[in-house]
Amino acid sequence: MRSFTNAEPRSLEDAVARIKLASQNKQTVAIAGGGSDLLGMVKEHLVEPDVLVHLRSIKGLDQIVEEKEQVRIGGLVALDTLQQHPLIKAKYAVLAEAAGVVGTPQIRNAGTLAGNVIQRPWCWYYRNAFPCYKNGGNTCFSFNGENEFHAIFGGGPSFIVHPSDTAPALVALDAKFRIVGPAGERTVAAADFFTLPRVNPAKENSLANDEILTEVILPAARPNTRGTYHKILDRESWTHAVVSLALVLEMEGDTCKNARVVLGGVAPIPWRLPKVEAMLAGQRVTADLAARAGALAIEGAQPLAKNKYKLPLTKNVVKRTLVTLSGAAA
Ligand SMILES: Cc1cc2nc3c(=O)[nH]c(=O)nc-3n(C[C@H](O)[C@H](O)[C@H](O)COP(=O)(O)OP(=O)(O)OC[C@H]3O[C@@H](n4cnc5c(N)ncnc54)[C@H](O)[C@@H]3O)c2cc1C
Repeated sequence: MRSFTNAEPRSLEDAVARIKLASQNKQTVAIAGGGSDLLGMVKEHLVEPDVLVHLRSIKGLDQIVEEKEQVRIGGLVALDTLQQHPLIKAKYAVLAEAAGVVGTPQIRNAGTLAGNVIQRPWCWYYRNAFPCYKNGGNTCFSFNGENEFHAIFGGGPSFIVHPSDTAPALVALDAKFRIVGPAGERTVAAADFFTLPRVNPAKENSLANDEILTEVILPAARPNTRGTYHKILDRESWTHAVVSLALVLEMEGDTCKNARVVLGGVAPIPWRLPKVEAMLAGQRVTADLAARAGALAIEGAQPLAKNKYKLPLTKNVVKRTLVTLSGAAA
């Protein structure tokens, strides 16, 4: 591991000042939340910062605050806290459930919400330092290689899948991200934050290297709204989704007023299904409608040579989760 300076800022302003100073000194910076992923990447030389800015030393970034119109979740809130938080469990179950199925208890203790959303892909070519798009090269080795776990939607030129469990839940909840950096502060909708490889194959989102994700803002939960997160794994635990679904339904009796349907594990970004949402809106949810929604969910999919199995998984997870969450007769 290359040596680096450890920075422990006392405030956000201090953190931004240190990032600015590093850039003036032509030094590279990495920003650490829990460090559960980043420090491993530093050891593996995938990230080689001159300065490591630890956000853990900043007080107040680990709070969950309920206000009249919104709930603010600090970027440093641990996944385990999120999973167990009474307010999040009661009003934003999709997020509590997503946080609760990340990796292992140790990872959920150390890992933060911001770190989970911003984690880099776990594609084996990238993590094993192949000169792919994510490592500064101009090839995606998965396209003609081992692509079992890669994208069936939105791929090209890179075919990674977005690894975060909480990201689809945040898109389904219409969350916003508060971002702070040397250029100031901005707020971006979760749905616009994630970017496809065709925009920039080296990146997964619009965050600049010197920006900090400080807060996730959830709109006040609507009445009669329920949500859930369903994750399919290739083994029992310790791993990312092969296919997952964040589903939020606003119901009136057995009729769906509004739906948010977002897939994980199948695309380089959380993959929202607007056509499925439109099909459900205003309809009585029945087993037949759920089956048609499942079939529509895979429209336009472009599986690679070794991941066609994701099609029936996607179709069925949409169908079954809709039936379960809505309470529709099977
Ligand atoms: C064995 C294993 C299994 C896993 N399984 C899953 C899984 O099932 N589902 C899943 O979703 N994830 C999984 N992960 C990933 C894990 O969730 C992440 O490692 C963790 O959430 C990262 O959080 P962190 O706070 O430790 O981030 P860090 O390691 O500190 O950072 C991760 C990335 O985010 C950036 N970053 C962190 N915080 C900020 C911030 N506030 N502003 C700007 N940039 C920031 C860092 O620069 C880095 O690029 C797994 C990891 C391991 C090792």
